[in-house]
Amino acid sequence: MTIADNIRSIRERMARAALAAGRKPEEVILVGASKMNGAAACREAIAAGIDALGENRVQEMRGKLEEGAYEGAPLHFIGHLQRNKVRQVVGAASLIHSVSSLELLEEIDRQAEKRGLVQDILLEVNVGGEESKSGFAPGEVRRAAERARTRRHVRPLGLMTIPPVLRESHGNLPFFQEVFRLYVDISENLYDNEFKYLSMGMSDDFEDAIAAGATLIRVGSAIFGQRQYR
Ligand SMILES: *Cc1c(COP(=O)(O)O)cnc(C)c1O
Repeated sequence: MTIADNIRSIRERMARAALAAGRKPEEVILVGASKMNGAAACREAIAAGIDALGENRVQEMRGKLEEGAYEGAPLHFIGHLQRNKVRQVVGAASLIHSVSSLELLEEIDRQAEKRGLVQDILLEVNVGGEESKSGFAPGEVRRAAERARTRRHVRPLGLMTIPPVLRESHGNLPFFQEVFRLYVDISENLYDNEFKYLSMGMSDDFEDAIAAGATLIRVGSAIFGQRQYR
C-alpha cells in the first residue's frame, strides 16, 4: 500500500463516518501527522491531496521546512511546545493545535506581535486528566478561552484533545463527546460561533471522533506506516 492508497482509504472511511453521523464529508479536514517521516513522504502525501501536515518537534519541522517538504500544503504544529521554541513556530505554522497553558498562550501572543502577525491557535484540553499529558483541564478551558480573547495577536479557532490510550474499542467516544460539548459552549458563548476547528481523532479512533463532531483529524501511522522508534 502506498501513501496515496492509504489516504484514499482513509478518505472513504471519513466520508462513511461523517454520513453515518448526519454530517457532510467535506466538513472534516485530514491532517497527516508526519513526525519521523522524511520530506519525500510529506511530498507524496501532498501530491495525494492531504489537506495539511502536522509536526510534533520543532527541530524536525525546521529541518523539513528547509528541504521544502511542505510546499503545497498548510503546515500545522501539533506537538508539545516549549516556551523557548515558540519563536521558531510562530508564523511558520499556519495553525498551532497544542496551546496547553496560559504561559504558552502569552508567549505566542508576544512573538506574534513582534513579527507583526496574528497566529491561529487551538486550546488543548487534557480530557483524561492525565499527568503525562499537557493541556487545560476541562473545567479550566473556558477561562483560558476568555483570556485568549483579550490577546490581539492570537486568534483562537477551536479546541484540540488527545484522549487516554484505551484498550477497549470505542472507549474514547465519551471523551470526544465531552470535548465537543466544551467546544460548542465556548464557541457560542464567547466566540460568536466562530470556532471552526475541533481537532481530535487519530489512526485508531478517528471514526468515533468524527461521530462526536471532530472537524479536523490527525492521522499518522495509518497514512505513513508504523513509525520506527529507536
Ligand atoms: C503522532 C500523533 C498523531 C497521529 O498518531 P497515529 O496514531 O499515528 O495516527 C496525532 N496527534 C498527535 C499530537 C501526534 O503526536
